[in-house]
Amino acid sequence: MKIYPSSYPPVPLVRDSPFTYLFRTRFNEYSPSSPAYIDAASGFTITRAQTRELSLSFAYGLRHTLAKMGGVPVTRGDVVMLFSPNSIAWPVVLFGGWAAGLRMTLANSSYTPREVAYQWQDSKAKVVVVHPNLLATVLDMFKLLDIDLTEAQRRIIVADWGVIPPGLQGYVCMSDLLGKNMLPEEEKFSGELAQDTALLCYSSGTTGKPKGVETTHQNITSVIDITAKVWPQDEITAPRTLGVLPYYHVYGVIILVSLQFFLGIPMVIMTQFDPVAFCRAIEQYKITHACVVPPICLIMSRHPAVEQFDMRSLRQMFSAAAPLSKSLLETLDSRLRKIGADVCIFQGYGLTETSPTAIVLPSKEYLVKAGSVGLLLPNMEARIMVDDVKDANEGEPGELWLRGPTIFKGYLDRPDATKSSITEQGWFKTGDIVTRDPDGYYAVVDRLKELIKYKGFQVAPAELESVLIQHPDIADAGVIGVYSEAEVTELPRAYIVTARQLGLKESQQFIQDVHEWLKDKISRHKHLRGGIAIVDAIPKSAAGKILRRQLRDIAQAELDAT
Ligand code: AMP
Repeated sequence: MKIYPSSYPPVPLVRDSPFTYLFRTRFNEYSPSSPAYIDAASGFTITRAQTRELSLSFAYGLRHTLAKMGGVPVTRGDVVMLFSPNSIAWPVVLFGGWAAGLRMTLANSSYTPREVAYQWQDSKAKVVVVHPNLLATVLDMFKLLDIDLTEAQRRIIVADWGVIPPGLQGYVCMSDLLGKNMLPEEEKFSGELAQDTALLCYSSGTTGKPKGVETTHQNITSVIDITAKVWPQDEITAPRTLGVLPYYHVYGVIILVSLQFFLGIPMVIMTQFDPVAFCRAIEQYKITHACVVPPICLIMSRHPAVEQFDMRSLRQMFSAAAPLSKSLLETLDSRLRKIGADVCIFQGYGLTETSPTAIVLPSKEYLVKAGSVGLLLPNMEARIMVDDVKDANEGEPGELWLRGPTIFKGYLDRPDATKSSITEQGWFKTGDIVTRDPDGYYAVVDRLKELIKYKGFQVAPAELESVLIQHPDIADAGVIGVYSEAEVTELPRAYIVTARQLGLKESQQFIQDVHEWLKDKISRHKHLRGGIAIVDAIPKSAAGKILRRQLRDIAQAELDAT
């Protein structure tokens, strides 16, 4: 057995809950009156001390005031859904939920009612904290689930705080729950309880539909500790992070919302990426750190806004969630240098199941080791496996298996999926194919699993296939990802078998109709941007499993023919 340990010395790990760790153990290392979160659009700021008070106040509201106002009572261990785009209320809801001893499940703010309903039911959430703009979606979700308005209102908290004036008739609002009182003490999750679930993000894992990833308290404190060890902050005075990536993704909730607070770095909150607003925020707030995904790097390497604003405060850009190629990195690097910005563009690798960071490229080596995702973080171990049974030879590609304190507990209520992804010895099979160079630097070279990533967002083929076959004229469907060089991302592409034979013209119309039909069923990132093709049959194994490799070959042949 060939086990690769981390090249960093181990970090002593704590067994606190994330709330205790962030707001007690490490809280006083930075001034309580320093800013913690800043709303980019309005400049509205909350300090570290205010974040703590607001969170404990919201925690009190959740545990006591909510039920008094007619809401469904929630108690330790219950699941609360947070359904909101990035906002200043977001960290308060998250930390308040943790302080109240609740498990937080984070829903993608672009979800359709059908998609939220799936997560609501699967996670067994009791209450949803929803941004006012998404209230209609939540009401439609309850309708889909046959839950009447009175009952739905008992389960909704409108996150109006910091957004619009309070007073949504008939609804409990976040502002109603704040300021009544503070939970004198947060729920403690030390010792054995550190293994309890704190977070339920959704990931399809290696195969199938999205599943609740049980991330424990100790997973979170550990990932914060080990990532902090390699997070570059030396020689940067007045650090400030731009937090534009969605916080409902594990990358956002951990690396942005939690890690930046832990490091005492104020975070500027942006609701969505827009190149001009992004560059303007860098100038206005003297941003030093930006966490991004490769498609943002691509835009930054071309967009004129980069030259229109003063970007010279920017010192670090951290890209993760999808591969950042050497050529894109070099193009962006030379462009930023041309405008006088001295920026390290470094990369990290991880998964929802690894809470998320597992491998990070030391920022100083970002050019020398461009294309690599870096070194294994402290306290982590790796194996590189061929065919699930044999360790790969040095330098040979193989599936990355990871072990360490950040590996999730399991998929919620899916013992079989958990068993097939975590071995008895605790090795988590990532489904990614990597190579490791003699210096211990890893490169992601391919993906074994069926997952598609569109601009860093997960798209589960199985989920799209199950939607497609609900169309009365689709007999069968298979979905794969095709890579777009122009957009530096994979695009979901569907192969469908129609229920009846169609002529050429009819087929073209049918494909358009299917795109249209899908629109209110799936969120935007799952749209079939890679196209739809009609085929006679979906290639399947004798056991009925879609042979995606063959579909990929078909896609490649189509590409070669164009
Ligand atoms: P998620 O659980 O949504 O974070 O998706 C995890 C998957 O994203 C991994 O299994 C990889 O396939 C992919 N991924 C994450 N970071 C990188 C990276 N730096 N390079 C290549 N692929 C990545």
